[in-house]
Amino acid sequence: MQCKCGGVLIDGKSTFRTSRKNFSLIIMNIPAKKCMRCDEVRFSGETDEKLELLTERMERGSSEIVRMKPGEVRTSFRKSTNNFTFIMEHVPAAKGTASDDEEVAPEAAVLIKKLVNTIERDSNEIITGKPSANLYDY
Ligand SMILES: [Zn+2]
Repeated sequence: MQCKCGGVLIDGKSTFRTSRKNFSLIIMNIPAKKCMRCDEVRFSGETDEKLELLTERMERGSSEIVRMKPGEVRTSFRKSTNNFTFIMEHVPAAKGTASDDEEVAPEAAVLIKKLVNTIERDSNEIITGKPSANLYDY
């Protein structure tokens, strides 16, 4: 396989990063090809598609969470594993919390858990190339 520039592509791993209005998502260890000549890194078409779908889902899910209004206070949520880092901003905080580490409102926490499960499942599938059992079928 060759790059557009004519260089040789070698197998490796790369990182996907996206930042949207309400969240940032980083997925590590994704199989990728890198050009020896121009350094361009490319994921497979299938991986690109999966990453795009996942990002769209996250956009929908995160805006649903941000629209919730249990209290005025907003907080952030962060989850990191070996495969990904997910940071969400403007998350409704639980009522009565006003410190620097506000707790996420319970109704928002339920939706965030679903998003995190989706990232866990999809990132695992993207990284291993194997479909994972649909453990979290909502
Ligand atoms: Zn190239």
